[in-house]
Amino acid sequence: MRAIILALLLAGCTRGESGEREPSPNTPRQIHARLLTLDTHLDTPLMFARQGWDFGAWHSFEVDSSQVDLPRMAEGGLDGGFFVIWTRQGELTPSAYRAALTHALKRQDAIRRAIGANGKQIELATASGDAERLSGAGKAFAYQAIENSYPLGTNLENLARFYKLGVRMAGPVHSKNNQFADSGTDVARYGGLSPLGRNWVAEMNRLGMVIDGSHASDAALEQMIALSKTPVILSHSGPDAMFEHGRNIPDDLMRKLAASGGVMQINTLYLEPLYSNAKTDALMNRKGGLEFQTPEEQAETLRQVRALAGEEPPRGAATFDMFMASLLHALKIMGPQHVGLGADWDGGGGVAGLMDVAALPKITERLIAAGYTEADLEKIWSGNALRLLRQAEAARAR
Ligand SMILES: [Zn+2]
Repeated sequence: MRAIILALLLAGCTRGESGEREPSPNTPRQIHARLLTLDTHLDTPLMFARQGWDFGAWHSFEVDSSQVDLPRMAEGGLDGGFFVIWTRQGELTPSAYRAALTHALKRQDAIRRAIGANGKQIELATASGDAERLSGAGKAFAYQAIENSYPLGTNLENLARFYKLGVRMAGPVHSKNNQFADSGTDVARYGGLSPLGRNWVAEMNRLGMVIDGSHASDAALEQMIALSKTPVILSHSGPDAMFEHGRNIPDDLMRKLAASGGVMQINTLYLEPLYSNAKTDALMNRKGGLEFQTPEEQAETLRQVRALAGEEPPRGAATFDMFMASLLHALKIMGPQHVGLGADWDGGGGVAGLMDVAALPKITERLIAAGYTEADLEKIWSGNALRLLRQAEAARAR
């Protein structure tokens, strides 16, 4: 579809029945439909692991808290993204590493099966050119990424194992410090990367994988930028200028990332303080473990999560306008060659007015209103992230 429209565009205009030249189709919705789009952080594999959840069916956020499925991707013009193998941080012991590796391999298998079960509509992607190729064939594309390298244990050869399974992006750490790096939301232990974390950077470069600095501390991010032979991505992060938080980045570091050729994919989280207490934390923990619950237990957990929205102060009252302010700030600081989208769908992302991927054309609409060109949009929606993948591939080839 996209390829056909592109050909028409290159021809300049289309000819109407009378032979008169008609203007190119240029409403924001039409522009959005012909852009190649991706999101670099889809936590949807959490849903793949959930009993009775079908990626090929239309779901509703209100009913099951999910935000991405194939029908809604089609509706929102989302062509693909990086599907995430996330592992919760545990103890730094050999037995805990083994359990984490088993979990991560199982999650990778769940991705493979969910994509395979919908093979007429979506395929696994590994090379930077796959996005364009599959989209041209009318299919969505699914790259794979690792969020938290904890399952690798202390054996970096495990990274090659995931590369062989098709994984092309990885971040060293999640919300707690681990064997590789300090987390942005923990008390610094190494002052950035650990010695093993430095070796992890070298192995990522050697394999040709994109290094993801989201969740790492600012110092760890700076060290990854300095050490890596190819530019670093932040697959789902935000600016401190919106709200100072360990998951957000100061303007100076955003400039440094851009100067090094890196890319920051803007998320929909940490736009404001997130009110929480022991009760809400326990509930959010249960929500993160829906895959281990029966359909009845899932329904009860989700009922309690929905009830939170009615509490004062509400947990998460961020709006689409706040998200757009964050995105526009990043664009102003870094430029359209260095910014993209990683909303943290199915991982806690979403704001009032942008609750699932069906709503994505609204972002394009606002960016056009803000003066960004279609060439800018192409970079923001996929070009920048794919450029980093291409650079990682070239480093592997060398
Ligand atoms: Zn995350």
